Amino acid sequence: MKTIQWYVDKDVDNLMSNPQLDEAANLLKKNEVVAFPTETVYGLGANAKSDLAVAKIYEAKGRPSDNPLIVHIAELNQLEELVTFVPEKANLLINRFWPGPLTIILNREPNILSEKVTPGMDTVAIRMPDHPIALELIRKAQLPIAAPSANRSGKPSPTIAEHVLEDLNGQISGVVNGGDTGVGVESTVIDCTQEIPMILRPGGISKEEIENVVGEVFIDPSINEETPSRPKSPGMKYTHYAPDAPVYLVNGTFSFLQDLVNKKQREGLKVGVIATEETKKDYHADVVLACGRRSDLQSVAHSLYETLRTFNSKDVDIIYSETFPLEGIGLAIMNRLEKAAGHRWIHQNQ
Ligand code: AMP
Ligand code: MG
Repeated sequence: MKTIQWYVDKDVDNLMSNPQLDEAANLLKKNEVVAFPTETVYGLGANAKSDLAVAKIYEAKGRPSDNPLIVHIAELNQLEELVTFVPEKANLLINRFWPGPLTIILNREPNILSEKVTPGMDTVAIRMPDHPIALELIRKAQLPIAAPSANRSGKPSPTIAEHVLEDLNGQISGVVNGGDTGVGVESTVIDCTQEIPMILRPGGISKEEIENVVGEVFIDPSINEETPSRPKSPGMKYTHYAPDAPVYLVNGTFSFLQDLVNKKQREGLKVGVIATEETKKDYHADVVLACGRRSDLQSVAHSLYETLRTFNSKDVDIIYSETFPLEGIGLAIMNRLEKAAGHRWIHQNQ
């Protein structure tokens, strides 16, 4: 299969009459899969009502078939058809954060969506992305669009179209190249089927922001477990985001991390470091990459997956990473880094 690449400028104001988005939307209507940018990462979209279309997503990604997909909508009136009921707290969250990086889990209306979107579940995950291309594409397709991240399963999620092609060229009908995405980590997933909502995956909207709108929320206790036996979000049990070389998270001072590097280099290994703009120049290692600015955790989220991917084109045997505070978007950053590192930590004071 030849993968078409459509270059679309997200900032022009006549996206509605863009013939390339028309072509991409027509392919979605014909049950083909198409990747497109959102404000979080690139998504791999397909008609959420079609078994055939949704099966193509799982096949292209190599995604385990028990891992449900997020359904993307462009208009609020698309929601009614998909769910049985929208509780008050879900409504408050929708009003405050949609369009935006918040995925809301609600009880699903039976027999509307393909069962493959929600394998074995009574619920469905829905979000409205805050990206002009994603919104226009969904409007043109006039369908709810199931869309996981547009990477091969296990790889870091794509934040530019080139990453999508790295993983999926020849396996999908096309990709809308709309430049790089903004937030850089995936949406926050929150279950609103219970009286007190529960965050199942940390992401672009922080727990603090959510609490400001609906008061108390829980966090699924299994999200940072090494091998969560029964996470409420099935996707959380799979390895993700890992570069080819093993990653270690370092909890210690700059000089402690540098000592680790020196030791491995003495053993003849090539060592990489995930640093920040502020600290990059202080490390001496084979490859040092700055992942955003420590003073601005949004910029760390934005650069995280690109940094992890870049290591795959570098000659390193082991990667040490700085770590970040568990506040705001830091919770999502550390959740993804933990997965990339397979929960391997090195603590200075042990
Ligand atoms: P991705 O599309 O790859 O960003 O992942 C979507 C995440 O949402 C995965 O962790 C899924 O397991 C989770 N998810 C999707 N639908 C549901 C649902 N109905 N209940 C719980 N988690 C869900
Ligand atoms: Mg993903």
